[in-house]
Amino acid sequence: MNHALETLRDEVFARNPGEAEFHQAVSEVFEALDPVMERHPQYVEAGVLHRLCEPERQIIFRVPWIDDNGVVQVNRGFRVEFNSALGPYKGGLRFHPSVYLGIIKFLGFEQIFKNSLTGMPIGGGKGGSDFDPAGKSDREIMRFCQSFMTELHRHIGEHTDVPAGDIGVGGREIGYMFGQYKRLTNRFEAGVLTGKGLTWGGSLVRTEATGYGAVMFADSMLKTRGESMDGQQVLISGSGNVAIYAAEKAASLGATVLTASDSAGYIVDPDGLDLDLLKQIKEVERARVSEYVERKGGRARYVAGGSVWDVEGTVALPCATQNELDESAAKTLLGNGVKAVAEGANMPCTEAATRLFLDAKTLFGPGKAANAGGVATSALEMQQNASRDSWNFEYTHDRLEAIMRDIHDRCVETAEEYGTPGNYVAGANIAGFIKVADAMIAQGV
Ligand code: GLU
Repeated sequence: MNHALETLRDEVFARNPGEAEFHQAVSEVFEALDPVMERHPQYVEAGVLHRLCEPERQIIFRVPWIDDNGVVQVNRGFRVEFNSALGPYKGGLRFHPSVYLGIIKFLGFEQIFKNSLTGMPIGGGKGGSDFDPAGKSDREIMRFCQSFMTELHRHIGEHTDVPAGDIGVGGREIGYMFGQYKRLTNRFEAGVLTGKGLTWGGSLVRTEATGYGAVMFADSMLKTRGESMDGQQVLISGSGNVAIYAAEKAASLGATVLTASDSAGYIVDPDGLDLDLLKQIKEVERARVSEYVERKGGRARYVAGGSVWDVEGTVALPCATQNELDESAAKTLLGNGVKAVAEGANMPCTEAATRLFLDAKTLFGPGKAANAGGVATSALEMQQNASRDSWNFEYTHDRLEAIMRDIHDRCVETAEEYGTPGNYVAGANIAGFIKVADAMIAQGV
């Protein structure tokens, strides 16, 4: 990395102490941008990177709510409105006890480049809370969501900031938040949130989109080497929305999906996961993956603790959470002959793991490209809301497929153009950055 970039990176770190995940996300982008800054001094002169690293607005608020025992609880809410050069801030809300400003900023920062790559008119933002939905009753979830929106509603809007789901926030939570937004504003403003229910402004394919898109991306990567998803042995971590629909798409393209996991352990099914059973357990009953083995029987096994990356497979799709796949897991996967890794989650591979995959010339699709299908379909939902229309499954699915193919090809072309052929990390960061940077320069300081 050149000296000026290094100095700026260190300034960003010093200005944002204690935010390890944000630093990690910034590091990755800065490393990729080295050749861009050499070639385009206008970005340096306009202070684009400097400005990009400072969110346009950060909102932190109290979320008080009353639990089922009548006890007052207090959580912290966040919305980081990072960059609006390309459109209204867009990005999910994460409800998880690990949430603090550094996590929301890393996610918001990633979102800027991811959203740019989709080719849709959306800026970058992210929000959430340290609220832990695990073990909460449906009424507690509703009261929390209502309280969260009671503050958030004054900061968002279809032309301002459009939240959606992320870890811990799915259709149920979006519904409770949308209801509260409507109550507070007296507006049926469908485009203010995405991931809505299908009868009140939601889009078909949105639920499936992140997982489907990640597999489409992996398939495109494999095709550059004369292969495809067909016949691959696929390792998936996680068992949320992204993991389940990545598994569904992989299976439909002829792959065998071997694993899924949650925070307590993982399941391996050499016969390929029974997705109807997994959906019943995770989506309907909201239970643990260990249930799967008890009901499926056969050769399925449950491993408490441990890591899905110990299992032998040819394609790895980390779909759980940040930094879940570290250097030693990467070594194991490489030792077992993994051919492609596509990040369904945001930043699931550590910096060291990513470097190992890149050095080994393993096909590696970074999250900001590989998992962009979710937010891209959110933008399609916004389009349908704006035109008071709703599209059918096939049409929406084809749009998603075209977007993912386009992102893939742009990563390949950009990596080539900047002297790092086959490096999707460089391609994604550079292509995502240039579009935002040009818009920021056009709009003045
Ligand atoms: N949370 C998802 C992401 O990481 C989706 C965001 C959205 O649809 O706005 O991209």
